[in-house]
Amino acid sequence: MTDQVHAQDNPLTLYNSLTRTKEQFIPQDPSRVTMYNCGPTVYSYAHIGNARAAVVADVLFRVLRHIYGEDHVEYSRNLTDIDDKIIKAAIEQGVDISVITEKYAKIYQDDLKALNCLAPTHEPKATVHIPDMITMISGLIDKGNAYESDGHVFFDVSTYEAYGKLSGNTLDALRGGDRVGEGEVARKRNAADFVLWKPELHGVGWDAPFGRGRPGWHIECSAMAKATLTDGIKGDVIDIHCGGVDLKFPHHENEIAQSCCANEEELFAKYWVHNEFLNMGSEKMSKSLGNVTLVHDLLKEWDGEVIRLALLKAHYRSELNWSEDLLIESKAQLDGWYDLKRKSMAYVREIEIDMPMGSFAKNIWKSIQADLNMPTTLYQFSEIGKALRNALLADIDTTENLNNVRIYLTNTMLKINILGLLQKDPKDWFKGNSSSDEQSDFDAIALRRQEARAAKDWPAADAARDEAKALGIVLEDGPDGTTWRKA
Ligand code: AMP
Ligand code: ZN
Repeated sequence: MTDQVHAQDNPLTLYNSLTRTKEQFIPQDPSRVTMYNCGPTVYSYAHIGNARAAVVADVLFRVLRHIYGEDHVEYSRNLTDIDDKIIKAAIEQGVDISVITEKYAKIYQDDLKALNCLAPTHEPKATVHIPDMITMISGLIDKGNAYESDGHVFFDVSTYEAYGKLSGNTLDALRGGDRVGEGEVARKRNAADFVLWKPELHGVGWDAPFGRGRPGWHIECSAMAKATLTDGIKGDVIDIHCGGVDLKFPHHENEIAQSCCANEEELFAKYWVHNEFLNMGSEKMSKSLGNVTLVHDLLKEWDGEVIRLALLKAHYRSELNWSEDLLIESKAQLDGWYDLKRKSMAYVREIEIDMPMGSFAKNIWKSIQADLNMPTTLYQFSEIGKALRNALLADIDTTENLNNVRIYLTNTMLKINILGLLQKDPKDWFKGNSSSDEQSDFDAIALRRQEARAAKDWPAADAARDEAKALGIVLEDGPDGTTWRKA
């Protein structure tokens, strides 16, 4: 039985922020499932809170690929490479904006790759899609949803009745406050109107029918989602839109208003999936609070899988309190799983993909499908680990035990693959980040112990073990000789 078949028994449910209920996920077209995620503004390093949003979307992408097939899911995550902060940094450094954006886009992609995030199907850059934004804005002006004012173009929120549906902000509530600069109040019809186009800044701008200028942030995502994910023939509604809860308002609310009016659709995305915050202490991790831990720095000390597992330890809709202990715990858990993987692989050469799923696998699949319940899923993996450890302690050659080993392997290989964990060869995992020089030194110590044991020279064997310990590695004697791993 394949998981595709099994998916029908346990359909994927997702909490839809738009309807505020858990819903069964039904794509508009199962042969082309579409998801969009708001990507980074590329002018600095990503912090671990940003990585949480990317990892949650990656798990969803992997689950969808697993259900609908790898070629039937399209994931678009944009790069915001035009923004006031980028322009400011370029001027300060006396370089073209592309020098900054290309550098940080590459760092972002490398960071996420290290966390085992798959590359999205589309990674549109805002600067490449300016013509799409201009077309959308022109359409909104023509339809009467947007208006020009003093070199700017604003979206008129009073023309969109459903404004506020996602975030629960009613127009009446918004009327009182103004979220843009004082100067803009004079230019706007309603306090809640938001900018679609603004004049060029320090010479950075594009020609448009409504004046030379640059796009507002919200229109970028509406235009890029449309350009990369919809063909306009079957409609312009995407299946899933992801992002952190902080983006619900105003960003996602405004995306909905623009897209629904421009596309003349009732919906922009059918399902809205929002991840909760990653906190430092009791506060949201954010650049403005200055309490950030960069992914780039964490990767100097921790394997990307350790960081990924730490991020998956809380349900995506719960807050996650970040700490060093979380990383230590995740590292220990992965060491245990890799140890089991290594031992199991000695017994089963090939993973038998077609073998029936054990009850373990069914439960795991059920938890994954239930609104991506990672804490329960990870607990079930630990339970499988326990069963396997028992099987390995007992006589492995009995059919029943061998079966346990196989089930474990099938479960881990197939299911943990969906989570993007346990992707490495155990040998490499246990070598950690040691250099090739260190590795040959450690190989030599392991060989010395192996030869000493063969010669029953116990003092020499003990000496090799002690030497290894002092260097931070552990020697392990097995039927194929002595191997080493990082302590
Ligand atoms: P930004 O670069 O601030 O637009 O953020 C990029 C993505 O990371 C968005 O989806 C944000 O909602 C998300 N994000 C930012 N800070 C956090 C945080 N502390 N915890 C979880 N997600 C976050
Ligand atoms: Zn966006």
